[in-house]
Amino acid sequence: MDCKETQRCIHLFLKDELDWDTAQKFVEHVRSCNECMEELTIEYLLSEGMSRLENADDIDVQKELEEMLNRTMLRVKRRKQLKAGLFMLASMLLSIILLGGTG
Ligand SMILES: [Zn+2]
Repeated sequence: MDCKETQRCIHLFLKDELDWDTAQKFVEHVRSCNECMEELTIEYLLSEGMSRLENADDIDVQKELEEMLNRTMLRVKRRKQLKAGLFMLASMLLSIILLGGTG
């Protein structure tokens, strides 16, 4: 994912509307690219700051963004594990059924 694509995804990321494959690439990119991280920070401030303007002092942008990125990566990882787990379960069940059929 390049900078242009990443910055196009910022809005979707903040709305939690990226599919998990794209979300993973997005997080990986902003973590390695200062320019996009900066862009994300600004967008985050704009979207969050507006709705919480009254206590804007309470917003720890860096920390909240980092938590958001971590959460996204964790979710992506879990979903991948779940997918792998389901596949294993399915092939296990299949072999039990097949073995059971011949026994
Ligand atoms: Zn970038």
